[in-house]
Amino acid sequence: MKPENPFEGLALRCPEFTPDEAGRIARELFGIDGTVKELGSNQDRNYRIDSAEGRFVLKIANPGWERVALEAQNAAMLHLASRNLPFDVPVPRAAPGGELIIAVERDGARYDARLVSYVEGEPLQAAGHCSAAALRAVGRLASETVRALADFSHAGLERTIQWDLKQAGEVVAALAHVVTDLDHRTQAVRMMAQAEALLEPLRAELPVQAVHSDCTDYNVMAAPDRAGRAMPTGLIDFGDLVSSYRISDIATAVQSLVLNDPTHALEIATEIARGFDGATKLTDAELAALWPLVLARAAVCAICEEQQAVLEPENVYAQTFLGDGWLIADGLEAIPPELAHEALRAALGRGPSAASRAAAACLADLAPRAVLPLAAPLGELLDLSSRSELLQDGCWLDPTEARAAIAAAGTAVGRFGEGRLVHAVPNRREPPPSVHLGIDLFAAAGSPIAAPLAGTVVVSGTRELVLDLGGLGLRLAGIASPLVVGSTVAAGDALGTVASTSPEDPLPAHLHLQVLADPALAAPGLAVPAHAAGWRALCPDPSPLLGRECAAPLDDPARLAARRDAVVASVQEHYFSEPPEIERGWRHHLYDTDGRAYLDGVNNVAILGHSHPGVAAAVARQLRLLNTNSRFHYDALVQLSERLVARTPAGLDTVFLVGSGSEANDLALRLVRCFTGCRDVITIQSAYHGWTAATDEVSTALYDNPLSAEKRPPWVHPVESPNAYRGEHRGSDAGQRYAADVDRALAEIRAAGNGVAGLIAEALYGNAGGVPLPAGYLELVYAAVRADGGLCIADEVQVGYGRLGEFFWGFEQQGVVPDVITIAKATGNGFPVGAVITTRAIAERFAREGSFFSSTGGSPASCAAALAVLDALEREGLQENARRVGAHLRRRLEELCERHPICGAVHGMGLYLGLELVRDRTTLEPAGDETYAICERLRELGVIMQPTSDGMNVLKIKPPLCLDVSSADFLADTIDHVLSTGW
Ligand code: PMP
Repeated sequence: MKPENPFEGLALRCPEFTPDEAGRIARELFGIDGTVKELGSNQDRNYRIDSAEGRFVLKIANPGWERVALEAQNAAMLHLASRNLPFDVPVPRAAPGGELIIAVERDGARYDARLVSYVEGEPLQAAGHCSAAALRAVGRLASETVRALADFSHAGLERTIQWDLKQAGEVVAALAHVVTDLDHRTQAVRMMAQAEALLEPLRAELPVQAVHSDCTDYNVMAAPDRAGRAMPTGLIDFGDLVSSYRISDIATAVQSLVLNDPTHALEIATEIARGFDGATKLTDAELAALWPLVLARAAVCAICEEQQAVLEPENVYAQTFLGDGWLIADGLEAIPPELAHEALRAALGRGPSAASRAAAACLADLAPRAVLPLAAPLGELLDLSSRSELLQDGCWLDPTEARAAIAAAGTAVGRFGEGRLVHAVPNRREPPPSVHLGIDLFAAAGSPIAAPLAGTVVVSGTRELVLDLGGLGLRLAGIASPLVVGSTVAAGDALGTVASTSPEDPLPAHLHLQVLADPALAAPGLAVPAHAAGWRALCPDPSPLLGRECAAPLDDPARLAARRDAVVASVQEHYFSEPPEIERGWRHHLYDTDGRAYLDGVNNVAILGHSHPGVAAAVARQLRLLNTNSRFHYDALVQLSERLVARTPAGLDTVFLVGSGSEANDLALRLVRCFTGCRDVITIQSAYHGWTAATDEVSTALYDNPLSAEKRPPWVHPVESPNAYRGEHRGSDAGQRYAADVDRALAEIRAAGNGVAGLIAEALYGNAGGVPLPAGYLELVYAAVRADGGLCIADEVQVGYGRLGEFFWGFEQQGVVPDVITIAKATGNGFPVGAVITTRAIAERFAREGSFFSSTGGSPASCAAALAVLDALEREGLQENARRVGAHLRRRLEELCERHPICGAVHGMGLYLGLELVRDRTTLEPAGDETYAICERLRELGVIMQPTSDGMNVLKIKPPLCLDVSSADFLADTIDHVLSTGW
């Protein structure tokens, strides 16, 4: 019998063995006695044997396989096992007689049996969402395997199997007929033809070696890392080992993982390729061949899944895959192969392909002969990016407003390559297309358009023409043209007129000019951010046609991050491992340089919302009039101080203006010491009060101050963290019990012969994730501190100013009145201004220490900002909004706790909320790594969120107070989505 010949349509049925027979074979032939469980296989029979000596897999090979192929697989597994790879592979186990393969007879047929070690873990396929980190790790695993097999040779590697991607074309030709659905059959043939055409010129250049060739998410074993993300830990099933293209395993991995998320096929491919390329540099030819090989693999798989399922309707394993292949094929076919090629090159830092570079050069050669397509001279370049100042207040969210503002700029020119704010849509998990791939010439509808160069019309659609300029394409969109496909035009010939735009279009009438590296390329006018780099390579900058530089400067967030690392101290951390470049904010959204919107869940400083027009106008006006220091005499300082005093309880009537929260708390510490003549201060565990020398010493939060305990000076007395969720005391008497620790600290101070200067505390435990202090706690603690002559400082830097909704000040919630209040952050909506508000008596005593002066504290501009904030808070009803939307969001988060075991609790009130994530609801083990990973995933989906607390396991939710209900829902829905699908 000819052993294996898929090209004749000989699919292979699994051998007919029972689990009892498998157990007997393992026992009698390999000396391993254990319980037997059948494992899935397409064409072989596999059993897991659990024995006292460990776990094994008994593999009974299909008689279709030649023994030399099995010998090659065994040798390859042993070869890899000897290489100390950072993941597991099965290792063949010899029978007592030394054989690695033993023939067994059944019903007159001969089968080869082997025993290999069992690789622990779950198939990656079971993991749900596959993170970018996991995809890169799959790429690394494939590259380590390839590197380790580079010097492996064996006679059994030369085989004819349908999974050898060198032979994919023949497989599809021979087996396509098994697909009964004609559309599907055509699809497979079409994909393969496309792959063949692209592969043909590359084949000779592709390195060939021993490859696993079945590196799918079924065969990559995974285990959760500390963040709960499934990460590859092993590679099994060497049954398709063959000599083939070195990049076969990336192609197989991409093809199988696309099923996870078919609308992100390209992102999946680029991450896997990044992982591979990090360890094994891909050649230009391999980069060009990768996507075609993914297509080829997809065509083969879709066909062979049907073939196997028809052959063995009772094979559950084979039936599971049925239909998957077509879903994958649809996901892959949505990506033009040219785009995939350029996107892979861009992701790996290789720059545009030779073809794209040639197209750009060809454009430069043609350009001297070009005429302007519109009669009017070119106008000003218009900035429509995140940095645009064209619309000063706002974010282009209203198309009518945007259109009017752009129309006012007349015959302006819209830039090539910019990420456009005008196309951003807030609260979307998938960002819409926003990166501009052409140049826009704004002109009145009806303006005549001339052909810039001679060419032939190859596409004539609605409002669109594509000219073939002789190998190069020129796409004109926004045109009304009578020309039909096949028409030829000379430079300067009439093409049509500028079409009018629809009311939903944020742009007024304009001609969009786009160069295509290939006239047949179906390119969009705008790219989604993830595809922008690839499309930019395929659509070269049309500037040469206009004889003028019309490209926007290219933003490169990764390069910017590297420049930042080079000049900024690393302790000034940034959010996210691959941070987007944020250059715009408007209300409760942030916008990156691709024009992508993010819901801002963390910026409590921008309490009114980003770029508040009232604050911007007040500061700009003041900067034009005067900005000096508080030793001069001007109105704003007095007005602000009066307004602050009017907001505080009676007696707190004297204000110091400073620049930041750290400054405010530092000054507060000096005030209480000066007043009491004592030095010792009581502070709460897990708290943060600032970065200056003194505030750092009273800060106990582990993340900000990990050496706090070691470095603590004797005058600082931390008391137990009054956290009724995870602290020692959790009942209704928690307030009393925690307060007792303050009594202990006071006794300690007295015992040392010292006196207490004061207590510094937030009234809602901000750093711990918005945990409310237990009822009655501050009342007891303030009384005890005062009884010993100390003063009480309320740090309202985070929780004050209306954020709690029901209360303007945090201390109101605890029913106490402090002696000193500190504020900052929200005070200036991001402009540096803070204050200390205290009694006249305390302030006057401080005069003993000399004068107080802060060069920028209380400057006219900072006072103008702070006054505008107070005005807006009142006028816009933001405290009430925090109460209303905060209550809604809190309910939504509480619902998540009912469904997701990782959600331990919702803390806080108003718009200071915390969602605490735990590994176990009984032990409350903090899910810190998970929280980081969840924040990364939320960022990918358009939500900015960060961890807080000592365990860094609480999602701190403190958005601008203008948050609306639909954005609160988007926030809760997206957290829900991440917790449901994985991170
Ligand atoms: N106190 C608290 C409670 C804070 O959260 C912070 C800042 N995170 C500060 C003080 C220090 O404020 P700044 O960063 O303005 O110095």
